[in-house]
Amino acid sequence: MTQDNCIFCKIANGEIPSRTVYEDEDFRAILDLGPATQGHTLILPKAHAANLLELPEDTAAKVLPVAQKIAAQLQEKLGWDGLNLVQNNGETAGQTVMHFHLHVIPRYQGDGQKILWNPTQPEAEELDRVYAKIRG
Ligand code: 5GP
Ligand code: ZN
Repeated sequence: MTQDNCIFCKIANGEIPSRTVYEDEDFRAILDLGPATQGHTLILPKAHAANLLELPEDTAAKVLPVAQKIAAQLQEKLGWDGLNLVQNNGETAGQTVMHFHLHVIPRYQGDGQKILWNPTQPEAEELDRVYAKIRG
């Protein structure tokens, strides 16, 4: 199922042309228009799902093998030194297009990109509180 007014539905299903680097029955992988680095690719499911929680489990199970294929393809063609998989859910997490997508971002020594976070140093009690909340 696609959703009207969803640009990634249109791209994934070929209604809007894209630089497709990989396609199968369930996914289209395209070059990002605003790449972090050379070869920055987005894996889009063809069926609309806004985010990770909406993604059907069988589709979710197929995403990582696709990422693996693309990582290998990018390694062969572009020779990356490292690679990040990034997947944003919700505006707070930086999601700007509300159709699930997995970023495959090849990294090159000295590329100047930062896809990291600032580690915090909580007390053990705080970690225990969070742990209890999650497990409780
Ligand atoms: P998000 O921030 O939602 O995780 O990532 C959205 C990504 O989609 C961004 O990296 C942005 O550059 C890319 N993007 C947005 N619109 C288009 C488009 O129309 N075509 C392509 N190829 N990439 C897009
Ligand atoms: Zn969509």
